[in-house]
Amino acid sequence: MSVSVNKANSNNITVAKFGGTSVADYQAMLRCAHIIKNDNSNRVVVVSASAGVTNNLVRLSQANIAAQERESIITEIANIQFNITKHLACQLILDAEIKEILTTLSDCAKKQAEQYSLKNSDEILSFGEQLSSRIFAQVLQSIDVNGHYFDIRPVMKTDSLHGKAQVNVAEISSKAKTLLLPKLADKVIVTQGFIGSDEQGNTTTLGRGGSDYSAALLAEAIQASHLSIWTDVVGIFTTDPRITDQARSINEISFGEAAEMATFGAKILHPATLIPAMRQDIPVFVGSSKEPEAGGTLIQRQVNSNPTYRSIALRREQTLVTVKSPEMLHASGFLAKVFTVLAKHQLSVDLITTSEISVALTFDNPQGSTQALLTKAVVEELEQLCEVSVEHGLSLIAVIGNKIHGTKGVGSSIFDKVNDFNIRMICHGASEHNLCFLVPEADANQVVERLHATLFTE
Ligand code: ADP
Ligand code: ASP
Ligand code: MG
Repeated sequence: MSVSVNKANSNNITVAKFGGTSVADYQAMLRCAHIIKNDNSNRVVVVSASAGVTNNLVRLSQANIAAQERESIITEIANIQFNITKHLACQLILDAEIKEILTTLSDCAKKQAEQYSLKNSDEILSFGEQLSSRIFAQVLQSIDVNGHYFDIRPVMKTDSLHGKAQVNVAEISSKAKTLLLPKLADKVIVTQGFIGSDEQGNTTTLGRGGSDYSAALLAEAIQASHLSIWTDVVGIFTTDPRITDQARSINEISFGEAAEMATFGAKILHPATLIPAMRQDIPVFVGSSKEPEAGGTLIQRQVNSNPTYRSIALRREQTLVTVKSPEMLHASGFLAKVFTVLAKHQLSVDLITTSEISVALTFDNPQGSTQALLTKAVVEELEQLCEVSVEHGLSLIAVIGNKIHGTKGVGSSIFDKVNDFNIRMICHGASEHNLCFLVPEADANQVVERLHATLFTE
């Protein structure tokens, strides 16, 4: 589906991103290739690794993996890829290339088993996208689209925080203009999401699910007119359709609301995806590569309706840390000390509530982040300042919409329906777009279902 939006000063280029299930097998890749062929504004294709490959690479990147297990993981990855290439006329040449890549992967894995490093871990994780992008370029060629493999690492410049690298937007913009943009005149470029490189040229990764973010960064860098995120559902739903079959697709949603959804755990988009799109005002379409004609969701600055309740997001595996100190009473500077410790360990605080002598905090933890979060070292350092208690097994539920902070009755509409659950922490008022709270993990799905039935179907 193409989206018609008139924008001044923009070229007619769409960056199209396909997630893991969209490039999982040959049929899936072929469907995606036809999506590209059917709209010739699609000039840059960003792919994830084929479904299952990154999880295998994560296993491979861990310390102390025995040689036999390493081999069986690599065989599993090889099988996923060869099951795709066997349908292509260029199978022999492509398989030879893949085998060479897998030999390099095997060397990296061996090195990791001997001496673990986060740097080498990122190298290992990058192989999934390296493989899928090579194969997808050939699938495009097989249907007469001039698809070309392009290594994104010299463009996607980041710092050296392996596992969760921070991007350098200015450099990405300048490299994209010199290295990528000139190629788009006569080619469809197929490149990798998720991976980048630091100043020394070492491979880095942007965190799990980071391909959405890569695509948005490239769209921004080349001033694309559109960004399409092709996935396994027909757009953004009122809540995760895996939680309730009552969830329904949203036709259009504002940047602000969609960004809150992504931040609060709606896996459909990596949390940072909309930041570059908002900076450049690039409309983002989300649709299903299985049913491209079924429509989807358009995310843009201005939308026709701004309902109080738009969606419910759920983020699992939350840790609540409560720091308590009598010193805090009427004193200044205590919170600054706590935040200094957290910043030193690169922990980003997400929610916060305070009472007279205690502060409760949760942290940003993008799903499946490859970085350890609240380590023993952080807790020990905090304990030098105050009493610390740590609770695991919580889920964060966010009700997302418009003017939530300024609408009467929001609190009772939400909490009256779930007053038989233990609500652990509530944050309301800081954002016009959300009200969120923590519940025990075991209750999370039920709370979302109940709220969804109340706010969206009653
Ligand atoms: P991809 O591999 O294409 O990046 P993901 O698995 O990362 O796909 O994201 C798509 C999944 O996000 C869907 O299958 C769905 O279960 C989940 N999801 C979570 N919240 C939502 C939501 N509000 N709307 C749609 N999908 C959602
Ligand atoms: N392949 C990476 C992952 O599985 C990145 C992505 O799919 O967005 O996390
Ligand atoms: Mg994803």
